[in-house]
Amino acid sequence: MPGRRRPGARADQPSVAKLKFPPSEACPDCGRPKVACLCGQVVAVPHRLAVVILEHPQETHKWMNSAALAARLFADCAVRVGLSWRNLEAATGRTWKPSEWAVLVLKGEGGTGDRPVAVRARGERVDDAAGLRGIIALDGNWQQAKTLWWRNPWLLKCRTIELNPVLASQRAQVKKAGLSTIEAVGFCLAHLENAPGILDATSAAYRKFVVEPARAAWKKEEARTAGPVGPA
Ligand SMILES: [Zn+2]
Repeated sequence: MPGRRRPGARADQPSVAKLKFPPSEACPDCGRPKVACLCGQVVAVPHRLAVVILEHPQETHKWMNSAALAARLFADCAVRVGLSWRNLEAATGRTWKPSEWAVLVLKGEGGTGDRPVAVRARGERVDDAAGLRGIIALDGNWQQAKTLWWRNPWLLKCRTIELNPVLASQRAQVKKAGLSTIEAVGFCLAHLENAPGILDATSAAYRKFVVEPARAAWKKEEARTAGPVGPA
């Protein structure tokens, strides 16, 4: 059908993952677009481990960003936007030891064997998460996460948690390539706390409050840039 094209069909078109909204359209409280405001909409899920999300500044005002939702969905979750913090305490606001924190990393295939999550301390696999009090997620694309790593070398003192993205994606029903920040956190908490309900709540909230509004915004953008052709 002439004039029709799919999202992402042209290299110079932005993808839904990169779609941004103007800061003037952000809700002053939750930071999300006013048409997809989260205020008073999200029921918090209880969990044991504290969650801190370090958000790369370029992630703010993206339709698909899930950090603001995570801050409301997880009962103990702080989101900090920036590029560097002088130490762990400055980043997390808590005086816990580095060994009490673990940073989430998404490894390639087979990184965790047949396990959904693998906790490591100084590179060595540790079989349980005993002593762990909090998890840290880096919010940004691959390159932005890499930047956060090298700008915050104190992260290396923390434990790491590798997620098995194949298993994760089957549960969360997202693309195989990876997980959103909120899904990675939900997946991790669900497994470490043996509470599958956390992941179910995460997937449902992510779909309702981020994916569906983002897709709707993308369709509007598509219709606008398609000019007089319009939707078929
Ligand atoms: Zn709001």
